[in-house]
Amino acid sequence: MGNTVVTFDRYLLYQELADALHAFKEKYPDLVTLVSVGKSYEGRDIWAVTITNPRTGLPLEKPGMYVDGNIHAGEVTGSMAALHLIDYLLTRYGTDGIVTKLVDSRTFYILPRINPDGAELYLTSPTHLRSSVRPFPDFRKQEDPPGLHAEDFDGNGLILSMRIRDDARGAWKADPEDARLMTERSPLDTAGPFYHIYTEGVLKDAKGEWVEEVLPPFAHVATKYGLDLNRNFPSGFSTQTTGAGPYPLSEPETRCQVEFISQRPNIAGVLLYHTTGGMLFRPHSTIPDKDFAEEDIALYAAIGKLGENATGYPVISCYGDSSSGVLDDWCFDQLGLLAFTPELWDAVGRAAPEMKADYLKSPEKVDRRKLELKLLQWNDRELTGDAFVPWQKVAHPQFGTVEVGGWKSKEYRQNPPRHLLRAECHRMTAFAISYALALPEVHIDEVVVKPLGEHLYSVHAVVSNHGFLSTNITKQAIKHQAVRPDLVRLELPKGTELVNCEHQYEIGHLEGYAAGQKAWLYYVFPPQKGTVRVKWNVRAKNNAAAEELAVCLVSQRGGTKRVTAAIGERGTSYAAPLPDESIGSTAVDTF
Ligand SMILES: [Zn+2]
Repeated sequence: MGNTVVTFDRYLLYQELADALHAFKEKYPDLVTLVSVGKSYEGRDIWAVTITNPRTGLPLEKPGMYVDGNIHAGEVTGSMAALHLIDYLLTRYGTDGIVTKLVDSRTFYILPRINPDGAELYLTSPTHLRSSVRPFPDFRKQEDPPGLHAEDFDGNGLILSMRIRDDARGAWKADPEDARLMTERSPLDTAGPFYHIYTEGVLKDAKGEWVEEVLPPFAHVATKYGLDLNRNFPSGFSTQTTGAGPYPLSEPETRCQVEFISQRPNIAGVLLYHTTGGMLFRPHSTIPDKDFAEEDIALYAAIGKLGENATGYPVISCYGDSSSGVLDDWCFDQLGLLAFTPELWDAVGRAAPEMKADYLKSPEKVDRRKLELKLLQWNDRELTGDAFVPWQKVAHPQFGTVEVGGWKSKEYRQNPPRHLLRAECHRMTAFAISYALALPEVHIDEVVVKPLGEHLYSVHAVVSNHGFLSTNITKQAIKHQAVRPDLVRLELPKGTELVNCEHQYEIGHLEGYAAGQKAWLYYVFPPQKGTVRVKWNVRAKNNAAAEELAVCLVSQRGGTKRVTAAIGERGTSYAAPLPDESIGSTAVDTF
């Protein structure tokens, strides 16, 4: 393995991924905690990596950045991008100023593979898969309907397309411009050859036996792995949504995610890695932007801009997608977190960048033929033709001679080819790093203890948020009581007492500097409520001089800070050190 734990030039299997995580833990024992947060349907561990410097505070007492990947079986780039973030943080800690600052001041929670069963089946067989491997609906456990079942019958390790010539009834023809592309037959096309197109497969009856009756057309049988884990979350859940499952959080994988997030109230940022499409989805599936708090939309735009800059992928609201039950909706609805669902890898953008914008707006309106021709040209131009398997005559066990061909879609359409994997992961890490930098970050800027005579002292503390985001993150978080107010507490040594004041003050939520960027009429600026001054009076009963008191600032999402000061007859003061200038300002190397 040498010095490198992961090389990012292929997709790791379950055991390889688990080994890599253990290797990271072994190599960076001070920074990494590795736990299994639960078992998948088939009993595989769902691993969670926590990265933070424990010498600068407890994990729960720092703002948390949550990242997971690969909830959809075939979206294995998500796992690799999550691993890339782990690798980036660990290998650069101590030499890269930004990374060092982040690992010291934040806690990263990274779950690279939410759906290990599905990903394993996807990576070790020709099967295409979105689901976990629990059959759904339940009746599919017992029986499969008769029809055409996807199967790699020619044994080349791929499930491609299969075309069967039928000049009388065939609906498809070879495209005149590129014969590899199958195009719709027009009523003006009277002379064949014409074809039926199917997924590569075999005909089976209800008992799973091959059938003899082979007259087309055949009904294609949907996979028995019919769950969609990212429709199984409580927000907007409906059993009418395809694959949603029998009830919210019915699956062990989704329950793990929601429990993990719920048990870590310090989580302040969320990224959920998917493929494919080259865009950054954000909530909400069922609520239009006009019904969001205006401030929350502005924050989504601001963090989204960081994502657009880092990845080159546009932010898109999933409103109108109609199917909810997705995790980013739940994170926003219940917790008021600015969750994003990046759809990594962008074959369309690579092959036909001029068509990308229209494609994102309404894929159904894009000229499919033109786009597929462009994709084939891209395959020839940049992929040495490897991504498309030309149509080849093959003897089918039931149909006689058929032709099999098509895209190697797993590694070219759904996920990047191996030589582009690292770069794809890197751009996502750039977003994660800049998002983590934007999290709230509370500080005790100043503590002053002044003697007032008669063993009486005044204690002043100035606390503030140095982060971009406010400690509540969003209005939604306050509305749903997901975040408690920040508080400042005075801890006194024995022999001292408070005079006419409380130990602890709730100070609301400290605003971040994003709140100071809402210029009114271009020249009037709103006040930024990011700094609070707190005062106590303390009486030392006996001679408590030289004893220490402590000021504590507790912010659920902004961190916990504690500063001690001596109670001295001459007074003492503490001032926070200025930020380290050596950190620099460029977060992530760009390619
Ligand atoms: Zn997905």
